[in-house]
Amino acid sequence: MAVYPGSFDPVTYGHMDILRRASLLFDRVLAAVSDNPQKNHTFPLPARIEMLEESLRELRLPKNKIRVESFSGLLVDYLKEKKTPILLRGLRVFSDFEYEFQMALMNRHLDPQVETVFLMPDASHIHLSSTLVKEIVSLGGEVRDLVPRCVLRHLKSAPAPNIP
Ligand code: ADP
Repeated sequence: MAVYPGSFDPVTYGHMDILRRASLLFDRVLAAVSDNPQKNHTFPLPARIEMLEESLRELRLPKNKIRVESFSGLLVDYLKEKKTPILLRGLRVFSDFEYEFQMALMNRHLDPQVETVFLMPDASHIHLSSTLVKEIVSLGGEVRDLVPRCVLRHLKSAPAPNIP
């Protein structure tokens, strides 16, 4: 099993692309939604989980192939609790690389067993981020091609000052 942690604030077709690829590589994938009070999330944890769970149905995968859970605290402790050393992250553009490289090495420092695996999305998703989606929505732009349908609903009903 691999753990794919993230804010998913909200889930985009970029996350979904990584999850679909991961489902072909690993027997099971755990999408772990971070519950970090220090991060100023746009959507509360229950909404982020609900959007992810509903979006995953679009992939039509066998039941339990991808599960969604929340986690808090150190990722290496969560991996230990889940009894897997495999940490999955998505890599988009150069700007991701420095942060992801640092995190991967720090997690390895904290627990040498942990192995971070990076997957690249389809080129059509390389420019896509949750932050950009929220910015576009706040400026009245169209994001239909960027996020699953249930996310569109949430984005439309979110109180404007919350976005981004
Ligand atoms: P975090 O706050 O942990 O970075 P995100 O939800 O922003 O949470 O991202 C979770 C993971 O998904 C990260 O590894 C990020 O690089 C990856 N990711 C996000 N958007 C995309 C995308 N469009 N294509 C590929 N990977 C992505």
